[in-house]
Amino acid sequence: MKELVAQQRHFFYSHRTKDISFRLNELKRLETVLIANMAILNQAIYNDFKKSSFENYVTEIGIILHDIKEAKSKLRYWSRKQRVKTNLGNFPAQSYLLPEPLGVTLIIGSWNYPYQLSLAPLVAAITAGNTVILKPSEISSQTSGVMATILNEAFDPSFLKVVQGGIPETTALLKEKFDKIFFTGSTAVGKIVYKAAAEHLTPVTLELGGKSPVFITKDANIRMAAKRIVWGKFLNAGQTCIAPDYIYIDAQVSEAFLKAAKIEIEKTQYAFDNNNYVQIINERNFDRLTAMLDSTKIYHGGDTDREQRYIAPTLMHNISFEDAIMQEEIFGPILPVIKYKSLDKAVKKVQLLPKPLSCYVFTSSGSIKKKLLKEISFGGGAINDTIMHISNPKLPFGGVGNSGFGRYRGEAGFAAFSNFKSILDKPTWFEAPFKYAPYTRRKLAIIKQLFKFQ
Ligand code: NAD
Repeated sequence: MKELVAQQRHFFYSHRTKDISFRLNELKRLETVLIANMAILNQAIYNDFKKSSFENYVTEIGIILHDIKEAKSKLRYWSRKQRVKTNLGNFPAQSYLLPEPLGVTLIIGSWNYPYQLSLAPLVAAITAGNTVILKPSEISSQTSGVMATILNEAFDPSFLKVVQGGIPETTALLKEKFDKIFFTGSTAVGKIVYKAAAEHLTPVTLELGGKSPVFITKDANIRMAAKRIVWGKFLNAGQTCIAPDYIYIDAQVSEAFLKAAKIEIEKTQYAFDNNNYVQIINERNFDRLTAMLDSTKIYHGGDTDREQRYIAPTLMHNISFEDAIMQEEIFGPILPVIKYKSLDKAVKKVQLLPKPLSCYVFTSSGSIKKKLLKEISFGGGAINDTIMHISNPKLPFGGVGNSGFGRYRGEAGFAAFSNFKSILDKPTWFEAPFKYAPYTRRKLAIIKQLFKFQ
């Protein structure tokens, strides 16, 4: 690891990555490699957890190819010298921000969207001109293996190297000094990464998880709410960081919602053989999830098959915050429904919980929408929809509090991997005398005036 980091640092100080043409070439290389290996990429993710090529394109490769296309067209603009106004006290001068790459970066990925969560940050890092060591999740071993094979074959390791491994390898990597660490994963491991980064004062982006609530008020369009929530929850079998974790619903419409959600689940035909559903990633997660199922509270679903790592899309009702399912992020295809009588009290309850990555609000009331957006802190979300905010690259993605910090996608991704140098650029033909000793009352009066007109 030490040698690899040293090799990349040496390469970084050749300043080649600072050329726009170099970055464009590497982005094109990545695009070409992904397109040429599409069949292999599809097969690997199917082997990991039966994710279909449809979902692989829509939720992984399509997003990355879009990010590459956008980065290629905007790279020059994002890297430009950004002029800002110069204050009177510095006249005459120019002031501007100069983006520069941070240097040698480490990206640690998660298994649930194994391509997207490794390669979308990679696109941002390359666009900003960094070298990258990419450590995908060992849990999705097939996709990690394919990324290592195809990327390590196509790229110079001094610029980009995929390192495979689990805790020992990541721990060894984290001992090294990086100029940026971009981590996607759990809050618990996020803390380990943050502590390791603190040793070297390395800046970090932490893309973590949490329990993302869905509020449904009594005036909501229940049929549409059920359709969009069922889609967002059972996509990837609920193994999505921004999946609706639980429903918090006005008691008056709870039954109507449960009925509508059951109909939606049945309509969607979630099964492996029609490629509409994915497996739970491993037995450990299967066991963790099935331990949360309380058979007395299952409204719909509940079937499981350990050998197939199958858990049917499941609705749970009569749930309270004391139930096992409410003690940790679910990260699987189980949707608990909690009723509220007072929206004010419901909001107060959520305010006391760790800040979630996402929050969704289903309502037709403008004032309720405003109230919830104002009173609940979360990373990002949607009104009358779930998950789709991530599909708009103009909306920077990230969490707050326990769900992480930092943002990426599009220009925000470029910024996450850049340092914006603040430059005051002065000519030498003029110098105001006011700041220099000997200090006088007149000089102070002029400086006071200058501050007023800053
Ligand atoms: P995880 O934290 O177990 O693993 C993430 C990465 O950290 C993996 O590459 C793993 O090898 C590494 N790792 C694990 N233990 C480590 C340790 N002790 N020291 C150093 N590295 C270690 O998370 P996961 O199971 O891959 O993903 C699930 C979590 O990630 C959920 O909480 C989910 O919400 C969150 N997540 C967040 C986002 C987001 O964009 N915010 C996206 C996907 C997943």
